[in-house]
Amino acid sequence: MAHVITDDCVCCGSCIDACPVEAISEGDSKYVIDADKCVDCGACVGECPSEAIKPA
Ligand code: SF4
Repeated sequence: MAHVITDDCVCCGSCIDACPVEAISEGDSKYVIDADKCVDCGACVGECPSEAIKPA
């Protein structure tokens, strides 16, 4: 299990620094979470102004 970033992402980058395991990176059209790195801590969820980060 891992958190995912939906198409509501506006690529603001607010979530990147919130992740303790550096699982978030900039993708082609939105930011993405590496499911192999994500530890499901939820720290990034509250940082997103678009509420685009959800538990998978
Ligand atoms: Fe990183 Fe935690 Fe968000 Fe997973 S849930 S991407 S580990 S901040």
